[in-house]
Amino acid sequence: MAEVRPAKVAVIGGGIAGLSAANRLRELAFERKLPLAIELYEGGARLGGALETVRRGEFVIETGADSILSEKPAALKLAERLGLGVEIVGTDQRFRKTFVVRNGRLLEIPEGFSLLAPSRIGPVMRSPLFSPRGKFRIALEPWIPRRRGGGDESLAAFVRRRLGDETLTRVAQALAGGIYTADPERLSIAATLPRFVEMERKHGSVMRGLRAAAAGRGESGARWSLFVSFRAGVGRLVEALAARLADSIQTGRAVASILPDDSGPDRSRRWRLRFADGGESVADAVVIAAPAYAAATALSAAFPALSAKLALIEYASAAVVNLAYHADDFPDAPAGFGFVAPAIERRRIIAGSFTSLKYPGRAPAGMLLVRAFIGGALNRGLMALTDAEMVAAARDEFRDLLGATAEPALTLVRRWPNSMPQYAVGHLDRVAEIERLADRIPGVELAGAYLRGVGIPDCVAGGERAAEAIAAFLDRNVLSGAASDASP
Ligand SMILES: Cc1cc2nc3c(=O)[nH]c(=O)nc-3n(C[C@H](O)[C@H](O)[C@H](O)COP(=O)(O)OP(=O)(O)OC[C@H]3O[C@@H](n4cnc5c(N)ncnc54)[C@H](O)[C@@H]3O)c2cc1C
Repeated sequence: MAEVRPAKVAVIGGGIAGLSAANRLRELAFERKLPLAIELYEGGARLGGALETVRRGEFVIETGADSILSEKPAALKLAERLGLGVEIVGTDQRFRKTFVVRNGRLLEIPEGFSLLAPSRIGPVMRSPLFSPRGKFRIALEPWIPRRRGGGDESLAAFVRRRLGDETLTRVAQALAGGIYTADPERLSIAATLPRFVEMERKHGSVMRGLRAAAAGRGESGARWSLFVSFRAGVGRLVEALAARLADSIQTGRAVASILPDDSGPDRSRRWRLRFADGGESVADAVVIAAPAYAAATALSAAFPALSAKLALIEYASAAVVNLAYHADDFPDAPAGFGFVAPAIERRRIIAGSFTSLKYPGRAPAGMLLVRAFIGGALNRGLMALTDAEMVAAARDEFRDLLGATAEPALTLVRRWPNSMPQYAVGHLDRVAEIERLADRIPGVELAGAYLRGVGIPDCVAGGERAAEAIAAFLDRNVLSGAASDASP
């Protein structure tokens, strides 16, 4: 009987996509009795990528992502499997309101408004957010003919066409574009909000489509609020994954290149990883869960065509400023989750959120934890501000918009350079091409936010999909000896 060597899988990147991939590989190894040796290489000193919870005293501070969309199940299913089910918390429904800045004031987004369109015209008509002309244009939406011909278009073009320019500049740019910290003139509607494209196609109107979707949801009885987190912050997901994978993780190990390696004793195709620190390692299969630009660099020598396509994915930078105030010092804090500031308002922050109103247990009694988002594709210049200037900008905005004049009790600035992939028009075609080229490379899978969804659930699902593909590949090609040897 030939001796079966375990197959080694390298996972590159310790963000949520890479951690999910490594964890799924570990689960599959156990379930299918596959002898896998899993190594996760993270270039930085910490795991989690854009998920980071900092705890200071009784404050639970999210410096990056703070919410998990419950409608997409992958992240919650993972949490359940990690034993975190009991720690999931929903948003506080008493404060389920979002505001938008108009002429320096916070106005509530009309009820039933979903990112870029309302489901009902009544609340729009009663809202001071739009001019009479803007309201009239929105009311026309159900009568605007469907777009002829296929092909992608920008979020801005879609909204302008269906609902008019005012909806774009007053709400959609900040609300929908803000999720991607993107320029809506460049953002692909097909890649970011395909359900609106589908509503237009199916119902001839996004307003009709939204009403149909709401009617459908009414019957299903959702278990969770739209967004959820964990009692001790989204970082719990990272901590639980890190604990499970402890033996497999190496931090401070940036992968510089991935090269084919045929020098093994059985001459099967393997992969040689070269690290930035000069070290090397050989693996039978690789999940690349680093950002597109890092994947492009690592693959440039061996796979220039794929590398060139990956390098086309652009990224934007942002910063998050957390501030804690005594609640009494923030008299005008609106009872809501937060607000967005459209570019047309020319503020120095793109959004603000009232973290401790949104989720329970984020701040000690009598304190209010808020955060401000700075930067994004439309405000690249602001990333040059120093930390102190960023705090000052956030404070100025909270003072002007909400009357918070007091000194914050706590401030924390976190920069996220090149961390928001931009889904530019044509993104889905670019990704299809990337996947087609990657499919030709045996035993290498790609995962991460730049592919088919930036949200945490998308990244979990993408990482897990990559793990399934790698396990199937190894089972077929590297471990098939193990299966036949094991049989009588
Ligand atoms: C400020 C901010 C707020 C957000 N808010 C939300 C939210 O509330 N809800 C939501 O669903 N999503 C949110 N997102 C989006 C979401 O958090 C991210 O899209 C997602 O976490 C990305 O995960 P990832 O694993 O693909 O990439 P990343 O988190 O970027 O992780 C990639 C990892 O790869 C490592 N790496 C890079 N190069 C190498 C290399 N050569 N070798 C080894 N390792 C390398 C990096 O150090 C990093 O740790 C937010 C994002 C940001 C930046």
